Amino acid sequence: MSAAPESPKERSKLINGQTGPWEIVIGLEVHAQVLSKAKLFSGASTAFGAEPNSQVSFVDAGMPGMLPVINRYCVEQAVRTGLGLKAQINLTSVFDRKNYFYPDLPSGYQISQYKNPVVGEGEVFIDLPDGETVRVGIERLHLEQDAGKSLHDQHPDYSYVDLNRSGVALMEIVTKPDMRSSEEAAAFLRKLRAIVRYLGTCDGNMDEGSMRADVNVSVRKPGAPLGTRCEVKNVNSMRFVAQAVEFEARRQVDILESGGSIKQETRLYDNRAGETRSMRSKEEAHDYRYFPDPDLLPLVLEDAWVKEIAKSLPELPDEKKARFMKAGLSAYDAAVLVSERETADYFEAMVRDGADAKQAANWLNNEYFGRLNKAGLTVSTGPVSATANSAIVQVVAANVISGKIAKDLLDIVWTEGGDPRAIVESRGLRQVTDTGAIEKAVDEIIAANPDKVAEVKAKPKLAGWFVGQVMKVTGGKANPQVVNAILKERLGITEEG
Ligand code: ADP
Ligand code: MG
Repeated sequence: MSAAPESPKERSKLINGQTGPWEIVIGLEVHAQVLSKAKLFSGASTAFGAEPNSQVSFVDAGMPGMLPVINRYCVEQAVRTGLGLKAQINLTSVFDRKNYFYPDLPSGYQISQYKNPVVGEGEVFIDLPDGETVRVGIERLHLEQDAGKSLHDQHPDYSYVDLNRSGVALMEIVTKPDMRSSEEAAAFLRKLRAIVRYLGTCDGNMDEGSMRADVNVSVRKPGAPLGTRCEVKNVNSMRFVAQAVEFEARRQVDILESGGSIKQETRLYDNRAGETRSMRSKEEAHDYRYFPDPDLLPLVLEDAWVKEIAKSLPELPDEKKARFMKAGLSAYDAAVLVSERETADYFEAMVRDGADAKQAANWLNNEYFGRLNKAGLTVSTGPVSATANSAIVQVVAANVISGKIAKDLLDIVWTEGGDPRAIVESRGLRQVTDTGAIEKAVDEIIAANPDKVAEVKAKPKLAGWFVGQVMKVTGGKANPQVVNAILKERLGITEEG
């Protein structure tokens, strides 16, 4: 029978097969398009969505005799990313030709880095929903050119080629086989995306293909050596990465449990069918005949230049999260706020404007982000400024309005705009703390409901009904603490109802 997993936490990541539990092992190869105006070896533009073949230099078109010239800014972006991944920067690296024929690759080779990449080993920490932090090792990051694009849907008889993307700089980021579930793979991609977006080295836009992942999956019995892997090519959303892992792991377990073995191969994920399909086996795999590109000298970086880049790095998500936690936020609240730089900036602007950090975080996570999500907006495109949300949090903290009225106030600011403090005054939203007015309301309600008064004497819990009535007549503006105190006194309730 199946061996018991070591702990419930571990179990949740395992696949239960007929022969017992299996562990999933995942390594990712992520292609991230470098944010740069010009291509890696030419001055042609990288802008997305331009007229086909309008951004193609002779170098990108693979014209004979054209010489590549390295774009210094792209190298800087790769180094910046390497530093953000806490990785080793290799002061000498080499560009190689990776030779293969394809219609969208006019030169017949891709310039890439093979044995000597510009960035070596690093690490990324991912936060899981249960609060656990997992370290994922980075194997390397290298620079390479993107290929053009074949268009098969423009004409019934012809395929077209668009070379706008040809020569655009890509960073290939390769992880160690350190992930153990589809959730971890998706969390890694989310974190990597956050890091490159903070750094400004890639826009992380998976819809436009500026980030895509090859997903390597194998399975093994817990504690056994690594199994044979399959590589699922070019998965272009977080959701599909998770689905591809799930499908692929299950497929491998089924094969192994029915006495078969896994052949190392490249597979494709079909997101409509929700399955992976074989593309080519390792035996048919390309022999790319890598060799150093004779048109390019080894890339030699100055240590001082690298140090300068290191000094210019922004505060990254992990450090920001630690700082927010020091200001009193929970790990979860801090992780949500730092997941996008603009969100963290918005939160900090609220605090700068005078809101308490913990109250601002609660307000955003419990109230404002939900509304933004529902409306398909972000803090940058949403209708309420950080200053306005900060003011709302502050008027609640100062007991000027109740938490309940704060939601109505947000509704008003959301739809009509305006200064929350001014709206509190002009619409009379101020909570009533005037004891006299509340006493009057309480006395009237008590006088009108002698039967309820008798009931509440026997069952103090029923005092809640009176609170509700007072709120009703005061339009929700009575200060709840004051209401409770007066009710207790008038109804003669000694301790908690
Ligand atoms: P190759 O050079 O053949 O592409 P690499 O050693 O570069 O192979 O590995 C490519 C990716 O596959 C890396 O992300 C690595 O973590 C992952 N990987 C390697 N072995 C396994 C395995 N047994 N299971 C899952 N992933 C693996
Ligand atoms: Mg590889």
